[in-house]
Amino acid sequence: MRPETRCVTPVDVSSEGYDSLTVPINRASTIRYADAASFAARMERGADGYVYGLYGTPTHRHLEGKLTELHGGARSLLTPSGQAAITMAMLAVLRSGDRVLITDSCYGPVRDFALHELTALGIEPVFYDPTDMAGLAELAAGGARLIWVESPGSLTMELQDLPAVVAVARRVGALVGCDNTWASALNFRPLELGADIVVEALSKHLGGHSDLLMGSITLRDTELGLRMKAALGRLGIGVSPDDCALVMRGIDTLAVRMRRSAESALEIADWLSRSPLVAGVRHPAREEDPGHALWARDFDGAAGVFTVDFTEPATPHVLEALDALSLIAIGASWGGTRSLAAPAAVAEQRSARPWTGPEVVLRLSIGMEHVEDLKADLSRFLGALERAVAAE
Ligand SMILES: *Cc1c(COP(=O)(O)O)cnc(C)c1O
Repeated sequence: MRPETRCVTPVDVSSEGYDSLTVPINRASTIRYADAASFAARMERGADGYVYGLYGTPTHRHLEGKLTELHGGARSLLTPSGQAAITMAMLAVLRSGDRVLITDSCYGPVRDFALHELTALGIEPVFYDPTDMAGLAELAAGGARLIWVESPGSLTMELQDLPAVVAVARRVGALVGCDNTWASALNFRPLELGADIVVEALSKHLGGHSDLLMGSITLRDTELGLRMKAALGRLGIGVSPDDCALVMRGIDTLAVRMRRSAESALEIADWLSRSPLVAGVRHPAREEDPGHALWARDFDGAAGVFTVDFTEPATPHVLEALDALSLIAIGASWGGTRSLAAPAAVAEQRSARPWTGPEVVLRLSIGMEHVEDLKADLSRFLGALERAVAAE
């Protein structure tokens, strides 16, 4: 063999005695076949066989399998983002002429997707009040192929009564899909309560380090899972095995990270709620929260993400006062090691029920920092807010 050829041919390496604790990273576009006959018959390898890199390598199977186990589902699929998990799940089950009922508290880009892409496909999105089950039943009676749940909702944190939604859906033959990004499978398992589809933004808690984007779809039904996998393949949707390995590394520490950020967040939420500048804290693990009873009934724990409403005089100054933060970063996303603050306007993202809360709310995602350092940073913000109100 000439050197050029040696450059591109692997050497024999023994894996005898190699039994590491880690999941190997298998990178591949091409899968090699033993002979022409097995290549010709490759499509008979089935959904879990290895055919081509796009359809997954053993690394992908490890992550898919772990998510399936955590949720008690039949199959899981991986997508390039949490948003893609939601849009792909919807596109896989909705057809022209269908209606989809979507919670008014959905992740903002899902509303945009529904209003643009679904509408263009002749699919009618209808937004419903997440806390009004009678209203949902009425809308569902007018026909629905899919009911989309997110609990607690983005920004406004309403808990939804998932078993009640499932009962409504069963009566009209609709599927139920649930965005479970806030809770993760550690704290809430929608499939166990009757949902058909659960999606998560792995970019958040499971990745856990603000350095990757990925989403997952887990199905209770094998047949639906296989149909969705085939659709994702035809659409050319796949993820990198390196990112899968990072997500699996994140899952190893998920339980301790979730517990730590949830504990710190609850302490900070209580502490903030005592500030005269704060009108209220939206956090379902707090007893006074309207969603607390549902949370206590259905969830095993909380996440470190919650939303703060400020008083009427303070609200117009929240944006400028945030610049006083030096430890907590200002930015979107959450679920990483670093605490984040994201001001948000809710009104334009609600249509089922007009928004009556403050013009701007503040979402906080609490990370791994010491809680006293976070309180000190938030004190700087509250001080700036107080000075801004006083200077009016
Ligand atoms: C962030 C988020 C998503 C989208 O996830 P990406 O990976 O950022 O696309 C979906 N749903 C919820 C509730 C989220 O917070």
